[in-house]
Amino acid sequence: AQPLVICRDLRKHFPVHGGILGRQVATVHAVDGVSFEVRKGETLGVVGESGCGKSTTARLLIGLIATDEGQIIVDGQELGEDLSLRELRRIVQMVFQDSYASLNPRLTVEDSIAFGPKINGLDNPHKRARDMMARVGLDPARFADRYPHEMSGGQRQRVNIARALAMSPRLVVLDEAVSALDKSVEAQVLNLLSDLRRDLGLTYVFISHDLNVVRYISDRVLVMYLGEVVEVGPVDELYAAQAHPYTASLFAAMPSMDPDHRTTVPPLAGDPPNPINPPSGCRFHTRCRYAQDMCSATKPALKPFAGSAEHMAACHIHDPASGHSLAGTGFVP
Ligand code: SF4
Ligand code: MG
Repeated sequence: AQPLVICRDLRKHFPVHGGILGRQVATVHAVDGVSFEVRKGETLGVVGESGCGKSTTARLLIGLIATDEGQIIVDGQELGEDLSLRELRRIVQMVFQDSYASLNPRLTVEDSIAFGPKINGLDNPHKRARDMMARVGLDPARFADRYPHEMSGGQRQRVNIARALAMSPRLVVLDEAVSALDKSVEAQVLNLLSDLRRDLGLTYVFISHDLNVVRYISDRVLVMYLGEVVEVGPVDELYAAQAHPYTASLFAAMPSMDPDHRTTVPPLAGDPPNPINPPSGCRFHTRCRYAQDMCSATKPALKPFAGSAEHMAACHIHDPASGHSLAGTGFVP
């Protein structure tokens, strides 16, 4: 089946201005050649430390910022060719972490949810809003006339979800959408999201720093490091065995991991290098215990891992032609 979204070689660099003249002094390589697909009906989890480019990728995907290079293809239609930015912004909706900042404090819940459908000329925006309120578990009779400050964080996040869904999107990008909620509320909202995906035939891109939450909700997982994709695979395969040393370190820090977790990799130390001047070759080489000379010289390509066409990693370890040897390192991917 054709994927719902194909992103090819996305690039987004941000200028950094400085000095008393405010000239451009550097460039942040926020997203640097990122390719992936999102399949119809799946939840694609996206993980990585802050600054890895997850949120920038999300903003490119919803058309909030423009790509410098690369293609975004939705259902066979390419953004800027057969797909307009306006159409993209309708079929891809986003839910952010901060439920309060995402809502206009002067609009009631119903008006807030009806706003998007109204300005996009969809039928019966207020009926849509009330239907969506019911779907996300907010009784319209009780909540329609409330203002954001009269609701809890969990209720406000339900409003944000209803607001996204009222546009009848195909894809919803959730950027740390449950991260600000208490654990019990988080579980309720995750279950709600799963039910909505099934009932409405939605597709999700779910960005989170919480590996347990990503495991719970995702079908496949994409791992990013310093603006690049380093690993992608089905959730069960990737949680059972991380192919990339970065992923292995990231997961080693995860609480409540299986006791028989197979890697003996220590958690990551320190912060990622500055994305202003990313390291040459494999960008992880400055923090990788398995780095060899070739790692700083040559950028590894995404290659199938353990014979699985679905599980890929960008590390020389997985390219037999590289001559990279793990002998004596203790890394068991
Ligand atoms: Fe480590 Fe080299 Fe693999 Fe990069 S390519 S993750 S530096 S072993
Ligand atoms: Mg972020």
